[in-house]
Amino acid sequence: MAQKWVYFFGNGQADGEAGMRELLGGKGANLAEMTRLGIPVPAGFTITTEACTFYYQNNGQWPEGLEEQVWENMAKVEAIMGGRFGDPADPLLVSVRSGARVSMPGMMDTILNLGLNDETVQGLIRKTNNPRFAYDSYRRFVQMYGDVVLGVPRADFERLIDEVKERKGVHYDTELSADDWKYLVERFKALIQERTGQPFPNDPREQLRGAINAVFRSWNNPRAIRYRQLHEIPDWWGTAVNVQSMVFGNLGDTSGTGVAFTRDPATGENKVFGEYLINAQGEDVVAGIRTPQPLETLAQQMPEVYQQLMDIFKRLESYYKDMQDCEFTIQDGRLFMLQTRNGKRTAQAAVRIAVEMVQEGVIDKKTALMRIEPAQLDQLLHPTLDPKAKIEVLTKGLPASPGAAVGRAVFTAEDAEAWAERGEKVILVRAETSPEDIGGMHAAQGILTSRGGMTSHAAVVARGMGKCCVAGAGEILVDEERKQFTCKGVVIREGDWITLNGSTGDVIVGQVPLVEPELSGSFGLLMEWADEIRTLGVRANADTPQDARVARNFGAQGIGLCRTEHMFFGEGRIQAVREMIVAPDEESRKRALAKLLPMQRGDFYEIFKVMAGLPVTIRLLDPPLHEFLPHEQEQIAALAREMGISEEALAAKVESLKEFNPMLGHRGVRLGITFPEIYEMQVQAIFEAACQLAKEGQQVVPEVMIPLVGIPGELKAMKDATIRVAEQVMAREGVRLEYKIGTMIEVPRAAVIADEIAKDAEFFSFGTNDLTQMTFGFSRDDAGKFLPSYIEKGILEKDPFQTLDKGGVGQLIKLGVEKGRRTRPDLKVGICGEHGGDPESIKFCHEAGLDYVSCSPYRVPIARLAAAQAAIARPGERAGFATV
Ligand code: ADP
Ligand code: MG
Ligand code: MG
Repeated sequence: MAQKWVYFFGNGQADGEAGMRELLGGKGANLAEMTRLGIPVPAGFTITTEACTFYYQNNGQWPEGLEEQVWENMAKVEAIMGGRFGDPADPLLVSVRSGARVSMPGMMDTILNLGLNDETVQGLIRKTNNPRFAYDSYRRFVQMYGDVVLGVPRADFERLIDEVKERKGVHYDTELSADDWKYLVERFKALIQERTGQPFPNDPREQLRGAINAVFRSWNNPRAIRYRQLHEIPDWWGTAVNVQSMVFGNLGDTSGTGVAFTRDPATGENKVFGEYLINAQGEDVVAGIRTPQPLETLAQQMPEVYQQLMDIFKRLESYYKDMQDCEFTIQDGRLFMLQTRNGKRTAQAAVRIAVEMVQEGVIDKKTALMRIEPAQLDQLLHPTLDPKAKIEVLTKGLPASPGAAVGRAVFTAEDAEAWAERGEKVILVRAETSPEDIGGMHAAQGILTSRGGMTSHAAVVARGMGKCCVAGAGEILVDEERKQFTCKGVVIREGDWITLNGSTGDVIVGQVPLVEPELSGSFGLLMEWADEIRTLGVRANADTPQDARVARNFGAQGIGLCRTEHMFFGEGRIQAVREMIVAPDEESRKRALAKLLPMQRGDFYEIFKVMAGLPVTIRLLDPPLHEFLPHEQEQIAALAREMGISEEALAAKVESLKEFNPMLGHRGVRLGITFPEIYEMQVQAIFEAACQLAKEGQQVVPEVMIPLVGIPGELKAMKDATIRVAEQVMAREGVRLEYKIGTMIEVPRAAVIADEIAKDAEFFSFGTNDLTQMTFGFSRDDAGKFLPSYIEKGILEKDPFQTLDKGGVGQLIKLGVEKGRRTRPDLKVGICGEHGGDPESIKFCHEAGLDYVSCSPYRVPIARLAAAQAAIARPGERAGFATV
């Protein structure tokens, strides 16, 4: 017996079910499931994705048995629906619809009303007594078939329709008569004959074969290919084909068609959100031909249908346990469901729906946690306008991309980049944006356009960047020449402050204060659940008290990396740093360091205070000293004058510090070895700050981290020095503190000899930025020149600086953890490279048995969720900080 290529659904019975989406596609599997659930679905059958793959592997041949199975199943459909396919007296019409494993909205093709020809259309007229409807359906069919199967562009048909409308002086399709449509059918067929040299196929069986082939082929149309690339969908999946008996929403005022989400896809509110059109078919709703009505009005127009629809939504949600996106059609007051799938939603909606479904008892906490894409949370972590601020709205545009932005108006992308370079916050104001503006959009806080809609370039790109955008603010007049815009008599010039609210579309003059986003409501709850489940700790990389505050608000359990070099750049500081660097001898170097000491102490004091007893890992100075010196002649001259030394001497010093390869040069622990005073000053500052807080009654947990160690002796020397200074300070202050000394593992050698390193290290923190650089021998700052080609050519699958290279760098981490713990079983191990905020890398860290990840403060919630998902996917053997 031939393989089963066709799966039937109809009248409460179906060969398929929801679990068979690989074989039947999402649409087919869900049509089968809805049928089984007793929901009214027009009968039909699904041709499997395997048939599609066969078609591709065999030059467009159908597999043996497919043709017979199609007609057998058609007979079953006829028996249920009445009428017969191709019967002039009582014709059955069908739709032919594509449907892959995952939904690819609008990417592939659908043909409606198939089975019509000059004879069967008469049967349809007799059956419905409605010639207008019959010819409207007929012309839709010829149009779609002409477009999808025969390749005559849709727009050419539309042009013919417009001609007729113009001649009759009408505006809407619904105003055209039976005769108009009949005339158009003839015009369409003539057009097809002219373009293809072939008459339009009359035989319904030939029509069906052609349509099925066209749907198979649509899997490889350029739109679908592009969509698959963007969403990493494999080419070999193929599409299923659904052949389904037609139901008609265009039969008159008691018919219609619509789409609905069972909850609000923007906010997540548990309230049905939908739109419909009376007397319309298929895609009229989304095509924007007429403005659809909100679903609520159906409650008055057809109360029974409305009630039935609400009941179905409830059942679908409780079956699929997720928010559904549905298509329905009402034929003469009778409701039919045509599609259901898990609906796409914003991050805000995703969180709210998941949390409320737990509270409603529909799903459990783990399911809720698994349902949210960690990276998507980024959308919720941007500052918003202070609700307490008094604002005056100048005008409103479309809320194209949420969030808030405050900045000074600039009018070209180049200006945006130049101003941002100088440290200015800007808002890019354009009539509309184009691809050349990308750089400026990236540099801006937000984007404001006077033209374009929710799907304009500005809107789409801004949403992709997670950047606030107000688009199509039609009341503003942008004058790019004069670099200003006007609105209701108000003139905003280049450099003037404006504020945008991307969630409401408000454009506001001046600077509105922003507030940090909060983890409140559903979001807060979701984070609590994540904390109950995860075993991996989450810390933040924070160099300032402000960063530390943000990190704590987002739930960081400590600081995993506090870099001290940023502290050297502030007002009055860089001067002392430079003095220290150019100092001719140890004495004068110590004098300069003494100036830095109180400043460093102040920094650490503030950060410890904010972290209120949580661990803080401070990395001692890391970058090459050269980075702190000026490089241009003029600046060197100025500095020499300030410092009272000769320009030549300073220039010579700068020159002498230049390195061929600073990344592998005189930096990290190597500075500590050659200039021990620098690290000693830092350690002194750390412990003085800590002692002061201890005396004020606050707990402090300092962790001193030595960077770039690759040789045990390096660490030993620095450890001894650290202990000596720390003990001196504590003895002097009369305070005893718990503290730890550890190292970054970022030189491959350190990972390889981790057992020896661990003798003197109480903790390891994998510095995966440097570890990746040194493992690959790729300089991160220069990799931009070749990495994109590596990825394009498939030599590397992903950028190893974004997602941890499991095969290489990851193996070094595993080795380091294992050897380190062999020496010191209670060794605390974390990661502080940028990978600490990347969900896939976090999963790896969980599996490798790390104690914590440390990431940018704004990624802390993302890391908390990713860590929970890792724990759910694979419960850890090592119980970390939090166990369930
Ligand atoms: P897409 O995957 O692009 O949404 P669909 O296959 O769902 O394409 O169909 C396009 C439109 O045609 C939808 O509005 C759908 O509801 C409608 N449609 C499809 N099949 C039928 C049918 N048998 N009867 C009535 N309308 C249909
Ligand atoms: Mg659809
Ligand atoms: Mg490093």
